[in-house]
Amino acid sequence: MSVVKAENEEVSIRVDHDKCVGSGECASSCPGEVYDLVDNKAVPARVDDCIECCTCVAVCPQKAISHSSCE
Ligand code: SF4
Ligand code: SF4
Repeated sequence: MSVVKAENEEVSIRVDHDKCVGSGECASSCPGEVYDLVDNKAVPARVDDCIECCTCVAVCPQKAISHSSCE
């Protein structure tokens, strides 16, 4: 399993790259612009900008994103 993880003192975000298909909904809908698409996979590059809205978790069609504030 290939999981990319990013965390700070407040939040922990994991993206399962085996599930991610690079559709981009997470990146385009995130109000904090936390995600980059790298080689067609979502990478939570700016976790410090996360406002814990849980939109990314909700919109991912692959259920590839886990977020510590959205369980
Ligand atoms: S919405 Fe889900 S499948 Fe699409 S790029 Fe983001 S993590 Fe990957
Ligand atoms: S919880 Fe909201 S602000 Fe944080 S990464 Fe997901 S969409 Fe962006």
